[in-house]
Amino acid sequence: MLLGARCVLTASHLTRRFGDRVAVGDVSFELAPGQIFALLGPNGAGKTTTLRMLAGLIRPTSGSIHLGGEILTPQNAPRLRSRIGFLTETPGLWDRLSVRRNLLVYARLHGLPAPDRSVDEALDAFDMRDRARDAAAQLSKGLKQRVALARTLLHRPDVILLDEPTAGLDPESAREVRELVLRLRSERRTILVSTHNLDEVERVANRVAILRSRLVAVDTPAALRARLFGARVRVVLAQQAGPLARVLADAGFSDITADGSSLSVGVDDASVAAPRIVRRLVEAGADIQSVAAEEPPLEQVYLRLLEDEVRQEPPTTHGSSRS
Ligand code: ATP
Repeated sequence: MLLGARCVLTASHLTRRFGDRVAVGDVSFELAPGQIFALLGPNGAGKTTTLRMLAGLIRPTSGSIHLGGEILTPQNAPRLRSRIGFLTETPGLWDRLSVRRNLLVYARLHGLPAPDRSVDEALDAFDMRDRARDAAAQLSKGLKQRVALARTLLHRPDVILLDEPTAGLDPESAREVRELVLRLRSERRTILVSTHNLDEVERVANRVAILRSRLVAVDTPAALRARLFGARVRVVLAQQAGPLARVLADAGFSDITADGSSLSVGVDDASVAAPRIVRRLVEAGADIQSVAAEEPPLEQVYLRLLEDEVRQEPPTTHGSSRS
């Protein structure tokens, strides 16, 4: 377990039981500033429970959380919570209050020195000035989520926990949320996002943790891919690939598949192997249309990791599915 000086939030052996059910079991990871850390896992995997522990809303059954080097305890949770912004899975707004008042209540709850000014800044930052006087009930789902995000960030937390922030949003609203998350990263804030949207993870996350009550894997998306599938180079040709597979086999490549006019070659390092492959093929008279490192979609990586986990798991110990 690393405890680097730049690390903002560390979860060490976090376990949370609800009665006999182990919702989260022995989970350790750390978040660094300027990092977007994605928490993936099937329904009931313990993602929300993990976020609630990190936000200091529920206590771990065992294990600990360090925030900025300080261990989170019931005593200091109220103070440390001021460094954390938590967007819950279903962030409620007060429907009958205006957007402005919704934000103002929180600005006051956080004890911000100039609540009106903070709310004005948030309205500007989230482009909500013209809706400030509207009752929350009148807002679309996407706009409500925008207000909820503005509320999460009002007190300028440096650790931001987002529980399924784009669930149910249309593609444009989801993109707005993603852009906001990237902006927060560029401000060196630390972001933990729980999501089922693998495409979103692919676009924004630096690190991915796959949770199924226990931690199945933690790494960068690229490293997880490489670990499971190895590196491959795909070459698309202007002719049938079959005869050219032999050329590559003669050149010492052993893992080659030919399909129609494309070749897929298993390699140690795509950037080293690709020029060699191209040279051999061109020498053999191939007309090459494209060459690229093959990247299986993250979904394939995710599903494979979960399948491997199920295969390894003793049948009686798991307690993470919803009853
Ligand atoms: P989803 O993707 O469906 O939102 P999740 O990964 O966020 O799921 P959690 O909500 O953390 O999963 O739930 C993990 C497990 O803990 C589930 O089996 C759930 O039923 C159980 N659980 C969560 N909160 C409680 C609670 N307050 N009391 C009892 N069991 C709970």
